[in-house]
Amino acid sequence: MKNAELFERAKAHIPSGVNSPVRAFGKVGGTPRFIREAKGPYLVDAEGKRYIDHVLSWGPMILGHSHPEVVEAVSRQAGRGMSFGAPTELEVEMAERLCAAVPSMDKVRLVNSGTEATMSAVRLARAFTSRDLVVKFEGCYHGHVDSLLAKAGSGALTFGVPDTSGVPGAIASTTAVLPYNDAEALRTFMAAHGSRVAAVIVEPVAGNMNVVLPREGFLESLREITREHGALLIFDEVITGFRFRYGGYQDMEGIRPDLTCLGKIIGGGMPVGAFGGRADIMSLLAPEGPVYQAGTLAGNPLAVTAGLATLTILKRENPYPALDRSLAGLAAGMEESARDAGIALKVNRLGSMAGLFFSEGPVETFEQVMACDAQKYARFFHLMLDQGVYLAPSPFEAMFVSAAHTPDVLDAVATAARTCMARLSQKA
Ligand SMILES: *Cc1c(COP(=O)(O)O)cnc(C)c1O
Repeated sequence: MKNAELFERAKAHIPSGVNSPVRAFGKVGGTPRFIREAKGPYLVDAEGKRYIDHVLSWGPMILGHSHPEVVEAVSRQAGRGMSFGAPTELEVEMAERLCAAVPSMDKVRLVNSGTEATMSAVRLARAFTSRDLVVKFEGCYHGHVDSLLAKAGSGALTFGVPDTSGVPGAIASTTAVLPYNDAEALRTFMAAHGSRVAAVIVEPVAGNMNVVLPREGFLESLREITREHGALLIFDEVITGFRFRYGGYQDMEGIRPDLTCLGKIIGGGMPVGAFGGRADIMSLLAPEGPVYQAGTLAGNPLAVTAGLATLTILKRENPYPALDRSLAGLAAGMEESARDAGIALKVNRLGSMAGLFFSEGPVETFEQVMACDAQKYARFFHLMLDQGVYLAPSPFEAMFVSAAHTPDVLDAVATAARTCMARLSQKA
C-alpha cells in the first residue's frame, strides 16, 4: 500500500486523515509518509523507503527508535498485564526518580499526555491561589487545553481571545497572552492585574515556534515577578525535560518554578505526562484536597515501564555531551552549506534540539519567527525528504537528534543538506 493510497483511505474515516494536525503535511504540502516501522535513527514508510528521522516522534525518542532495552522491558511488562487501575511499584519508582532529578518537585502525579499535565497544573494553580487569570506567552504551546489555546487580543497587554473555534471567549479571556522574551511586558501587565493572576506558564526554551532560546535574565525575571505578586510560576518542560541533561532545564539556570510539567521523553515513546512541584500545592489534589484530577490509564504500567527504561539508560550513559556535539556539528555544516549557496539560514540550537530558520537576522521573538521564509522551508523540507532525510513537516517545529544518530548518519544528513541548499538557491 502506497502513502498516497493510505492517505486517501485515511481521509474517509479520520478527519484530514490524521490524528494530530501537523502530521497532515499542511504546512509543507505533499503526501504524509505513513510509517511502517522505525529503528535507531531511521523511519521506514509504507513504500519501504527509509528516512533518517529528525522528528523523533516530536521529541520523545531521544535514544532513537526501538532501543533494545526499552523494547525488552515493555515486552516483559506486557506479559504481566497492561493496565490495573490500581497502584503499582513502577509508579512509585517513577515518582521517586522524577522528584530526585527535578529538585523543585516534592510530589508528582502521572497523566497520559503533556496536555493533561498542563491542564491539571493550571487547575491546581487556580485552586491554590483562589485566582482565575493565567498568563502565557505568544508562540508557546502547552497542549490543546481550552484556556491555553488563546492568542493575544488586539492591542498590547490585553486579555486573550480564542486561538481556535470551540473555545468560549469567556474562557480565553481568563488567559493573558504576552510576548515571549519580554519580561518588561509581564512587569507592566502584573502591575495592573497581578492580584488576579493565578499562574504564569512558560516553556523555558520555546520549542513550539520552532526553537527560540530564552534571553538572558528572562526566566529569572519571571520567577521574581510572579513571587512579587503571589502568582505561581509553571515551567512547561514537556519538551525540555531530560532533553539537555538528566533533569529539567530549570536547574541549568538554577530557577525553581512552583509547578513543572513533563511528558515526551519521560514516556520513552508511550503516552505519559506528569505534573508536580511544591508539596503544599500538590496536596490540594483529591482525595487529600479539593482539586479533582484523575485518569483511568494514568500511571499505566506499560507506559511507565517504557519511561523508566529510558530514564535508566539516560542516567547510565549520559548521552548529553555527545548529543550536543552531534547537533552542533550538523548545524554548523548546514550553516556553511547555506552560506556557500548564498542562502540566509539561522539555526537556534540547544543540545539535541534545533530550529532552522530561513532568516537574515536573529530569531528571538515570535514576530521574528513569523517573519521567516516559510515557503523556502517547505521547499527545503521536500528536497531533504527526497534525499531520505525526514525533517519536521512544518517551519514552526524543532528538529532533534537522538543517541542513535551516529557520526556516519550525521555526515549523510550534512551531505544531503549541502545538495539541497545548492538546489534551493537555483530554484529561488
Ligand atoms: C508536546 C507539548 C505539549 C503537549 O503534549 P501532548 O503529549 O502532545 O499533549 C505541551 N507542552 C509542550 C511544551 C510540548 O512541547
